[in-house]
This record gives sequence, structure tokens and C-alpha cells, in this order.
Amino acid sequence: MHDSSVNQNSDLRQKARERMVENQIRKRGISDSRVLDAMRRVPREEFVSHESKDFAFDDCALPINCSQTISQPYTVAYMCAAAQLSGNENVLEVGCGSGYGAAVLSLLAREVHTVERIPELVQQAKERLQRLGYSNVHVYTSDGTLGVPEAAPFDVIIVTAGAESLPDPYLTQLKEGGRIIIPIGTEFTGQTMYRFTLKNGKLSEENLGAFSFVPLIGEFGWPG
Ligand code: SAM
Repeated sequence: MHDSSVNQNSDLRQKARERMVENQIRKRGISDSRVLDAMRRVPREEFVSHESKDFAFDDCALPINCSQTISQPYTVAYMCAAAQLSGNENVLEVGCGSGYGAAVLSLLAREVHTVERIPELVQQAKERLQRLGYSNVHVYTSDGTLGVPEAAPFDVIIVTAGAESLPDPYLTQLKEGGRIIIPIGTEFTGQTMYRFTLKNGKLSEENLGAFSFVPLIGEFGWPG
């Protein structure tokens, strides 16, 4: 391909990301300028399969390998905004999937540790994140319901799969003042998003509304 058509394609994708952020995220009430900027900068099209490239900026989750999904852009932005990141945080993301959410978080926090239970997804996400230069993201293969004790304590824990309840290990890996953003539901599909905040050793919870995620499978999650 000639240089001019490569540049033209990259301009088109940049414009598509800008429209995605304006129409699907900012107009729906997310105003955190750092989150909007990170969503404009991360090339979502690089995190979807070849067959899904034309739909990369659509207002929906998309299939990735191993019957998993890359979350809807709005959901990624909503969770990042709910985490109230200022740039100096140590963050744990549970459910690395394609690596897209971790890439967005990497522009909003100091370090991002992201854990995925499916080794094939880990391998692909690592390759992408490295190729695209997200050097403050560390990817782990393990059961994320156990947290990542070696990288704790965390200012923020973001869980991108639907839990049955709040996994106990997160409580010992969260800093004072820290937040956990997690969808919880007793049904296998359909959850309520919660923000838990640890203040003076006590956890308070806020209901952030209804969402739908693939299940969080593990020792402190749903059975596999
Ligand atoms: N953040 C991802 C992205 O940007 O592509 C989307 C995540 S997808 C909605 C949820 C992911 O959670 C899936 O890849 C799934 O395999 C993973 N998952 C489910 N249970 C898990 C567990 N116990 N530990 C780690 N990952 C888990």
C-alpha cells in the first residue's frame, strides 16, 4: 500500500474514533476529559478480529476469540470514569480479553496489571499491547478472582466480567481509599454495576446501574 493511502486510512480511523467518543460516550453523559481523550487515542480497531474491523467503532460489544467479548466502548468509558483515576494509580483489571480496556487504563493510571484466565487470549493481548507500545501494562494468566497478590496493593480494581458476589481476595489487596468497580448478579447474564470504596477500613457500596457481561469464572466466581 502507498504511504498516502496508509495515512488516509489512519485519518479515517481517527475520525471514526472521534465520532464514537462524541456520539456514544460524551453525549451519553461521560464528561471526564482524560477518559474521553484516552478513548480517542487507543486504536480500538487493533484489538478486534480481522472480520470485525468494519464494526470496531460500533455501539456494541464484539466477539473476540474463545467465545469472549471486547466490551462496548461506552461500558469501557463508564467503568474508567467510575474508577476516578487521576494518573498515579496502581490498577488491577480482571478480564484482560483483547487487552483494549487495559490499553485505555494505561493512559489513565501509572501501572496496570491485567489478568486473564484463558492463555490464548493472554498471548494475543500481550503481543498487541507490546506492539502498540503500552509499556506500563503487565499481563498475567491466572484466576483473577484471586486478585494478583504479587502486584498489590491496588488503588483501583476493575472487573470486566460478571461476578456472583464480591470476591474476598480483593478486600485484602485494596488500598485505603481504593475503589472496586464490578458487575454483580445472581443471574448468569445481566448484572448491576457497583462501586465499592474502602474508607477507614469499611467498604461502602454504590449502585451504578444495569449492565451485561460474560461470567467471571473462578474460585471466587462462577464454576467453570
Ligand atoms: N477487558 C476486555 C477487553 O477490553 O477486551 C473485555 C473482557 S471480556 C468482557 C471478560 C473477560 O474476562 C473474558 O476474556 C474472560 O475470559 C475473562 N474472565 C472471566 N473470568 C475470569 C477470571 N476468573 N480471571 C480472569 N479473567 C476472567
